[in-house]
Amino acid sequence: MNFLTARYDPWLVLTSVWIASLASYVALDLAKRVRGPDLQVARIWWVAGSLAMGTGIWSMHFTGMLAFSLSGVALGYTLPATVLSWIAGVAVSGVALAVASRGRLGFRRLATGSIAMALGICAMHYIGMAALDMAPGVVWDPLIVAASAAIALAASAAALSIFFWLRTVSQRHGLWMQALAALAMGLAISGMHYTGMAAVSFPEGSVCLSATQLSADRLGATVIVASVLLLAATQFTSVLDARMQGKANRLAQSLREANAKLRSAFEELKKHAFIDVLTGLPNRVLFEDRLAHAVARCSRADRRHADAARAASRLAVLFVDLDGFKPVNDSLGHAAGDIVLKQVATRLLHEVRSADTVARIGGDEFVLLVEDLTSADAALALADRLVRRLAQPFDVLHTQVELSASIGTVVYPDQGNAAKLVAHADAAMYAAKRAGGNTHALFESHMTAGADAQMALLHDLRHAAERGELHLYYQPKIEGRRGAVSGVEALLRWNHPTRGPVSPAEFIPIAERFGLIGGIGNWVIDEACRQMRAWWADGLHLRVAVNLSVHQLRQEDLVQRIRDALVRNDISPARLTCEITESAAMDDLEATRRAFEKLVHSGVQLSIDDFGTGHSSLAYLRSLPATQLKIDRSFVQDIGGESGAIVDAVVRLAHALGLRVVAEGVETEDQRDRLLALGCDELQGFLFARPMAPDALAQWLRQSQAAPAAAEPIGSRPTSMMAT
Ligand code: C2E
Ligand code: MG
Ligand code: MG
Repeated sequence: MNFLTARYDPWLVLTSVWIASLASYVALDLAKRVRGPDLQVARIWWVAGSLAMGTGIWSMHFTGMLAFSLSGVALGYTLPATVLSWIAGVAVSGVALAVASRGRLGFRRLATGSIAMALGICAMHYIGMAALDMAPGVVWDPLIVAASAAIALAASAAALSIFFWLRTVSQRHGLWMQALAALAMGLAISGMHYTGMAAVSFPEGSVCLSATQLSADRLGATVIVASVLLLAATQFTSVLDARMQGKANRLAQSLREANAKLRSAFEELKKHAFIDVLTGLPNRVLFEDRLAHAVARCSRADRRHADAARAASRLAVLFVDLDGFKPVNDSLGHAAGDIVLKQVATRLLHEVRSADTVARIGGDEFVLLVEDLTSADAALALADRLVRRLAQPFDVLHTQVELSASIGTVVYPDQGNAAKLVAHADAAMYAAKRAGGNTHALFESHMTAGADAQMALLHDLRHAAERGELHLYYQPKIEGRRGAVSGVEALLRWNHPTRGPVSPAEFIPIAERFGLIGGIGNWVIDEACRQMRAWWADGLHLRVAVNLSVHQLRQEDLVQRIRDALVRNDISPARLTCEITESAAMDDLEATRRAFEKLVHSGVQLSIDDFGTGHSSLAYLRSLPATQLKIDRSFVQDIGGESGAIVDAVVRLAHALGLRVVAEGVETEDQRDRLLALGCDELQGFLFARPMAPDALAQWLRQSQAAPAAAEPIGSRPTSMMAT
């Protein structure tokens, strides 16, 4: 049998290879899209990509067919087969993209993917061939058909492998590699097509029955242009999408980073909100939360086991406050103070069980929550252990620091109100402090009984000065050997409208705690100076001492106020003495030193009050420019006992430091004699006179033998001092 000669238009063959390569290039790009993180977007790309890529491959086939001509035979295609071949092309692309979208390409996936693709390509090609309705029928060469199928399989496997291999290529080389790979795939697909074409022969005299349906010439150009446009549009969209995805990815990445930063900042914040930064212990907020939970647990257990488990359902709150921490902070510096606090935290943690909570809620204030106690005694035993443990010296920057602690304990439900456990432990701690510190106390209801009364007192105290309820009483100081009055101490009195006289020992601490002492202190200074001037006018030239609180020492304008009061009343500064209790002086040594220096500079005399109660050393006080030291009443009361030796030592040391010594609270002649024998310079106490109102004092002075013999002007003459 003779066959018709088949001819190929080389330009159209080249165009078909180019279209196959373009379709491959677009396909490789699409493979990345269908792997995108957004599932919805990936699906859309899969459908659109399959359509574009399928159309591309199919159009390659169509172009290949266009390149083909049979001498003298007009060719055309049947519509159904043409459409079916297009569907096959799209299906092949769908399979290819679906396989490419997977994470890994194992052998099985490669094999099944390649076979499915090869089948699809063959189907597309041979259905496309079948669209040529020839009469008589074409003659097939089965070997070449098999070869074309093998090429389709190899091309598919290569294409899939290339999809995956391209993922590993760096971004920079990616485009070139993609172009090369697309060319190789284009050649393979075209190779399959033309091999398939070589498998058919057309007997001489064949006619194409479908020539009148879809004319190859007319349709060909349209299909080529349309499919190239479609591929180009797809590629363009793909690149655009890649850019946007890139941007979105970068955005998502920076969002993730910002989120991570935010999260860590939030964690840090959360930590700060609940943790004390210095010691790493829980702070008040976390402590109160744990306490609330513990109380709830405790109450539940209490209800459930009315008797049996009651014993084990107790909890205790221990309030720990260090005694004398502030002087350590002031003298050794804050760094040393911090070290002490950390060591305290460690010691506390060491003494409790891991389930218990140790928190720091203020400068030197710690609270402990101890659960599952069998008895209040267990809590007291712990408090006792803690007191002893904290009394052991601290090793701070190669210095041994000795401190002690006052601890208040409250046991729930034995004592009191669940909502006030910390406040009650605090009240018990104050009771321990009042008892001299370095000890612990169990809460008792009377410890807070005064709290409400205190508030009422505070309310009244705010208006006491303006309502004229405050007065100054004056108590003489007696010059030791000659028994003459060396001056008077102004002592504040509050005549409460309903309660009568209120002791300064009661209301001064309240005034100090609630910030009223500044105003009251200023009133005392003004009133004492006014009184001094009034006495002078009466011929009584008295030196007056006023008591200053530590809060006044911190007032910026204290010295100016004192100066103003002195000038206003034309009084020499040397006639005024300021008494500061030793403990107040030690409380804020820096503030004391600064204030003392300014006061001394303005000519005022300074006295350390209640000496012996503040646990300071004389050497420490030497740095303060005081001229007088008042030995506390407690030593005077015990002068016949151990205190005798102490007072002896204090007097000697004070004299060596150039300080005059005043003994306070002298009540008996025996005390007077002993104190004088020990060398005290001045005495003050009920033995000589109680604090008196100004008029009473003036009368007492006139009647008393101790009254000054001669009047001296008190204004601006520093040397004028009564009875000395
Ligand atoms: P202080 O400065 O040590 O005053 C001496 C206290 O001892 C006075 O108590 C006085 O009445 C009392 N006293 C004097 N002689 C004897 C005695 O022989 N036996 C006994 N048992 N007591 C004696 P007062 O007036 O109750 O004052 C108590 C404290 O209140 C004062 O102690 C002082 O620290 C403070 N204070 C008084 N007035 C003021 C003031 O105007 N401002 C400040 N900041 N504190 C003041
Ligand atoms: Mg005093
Ligand atoms: Mg005193």
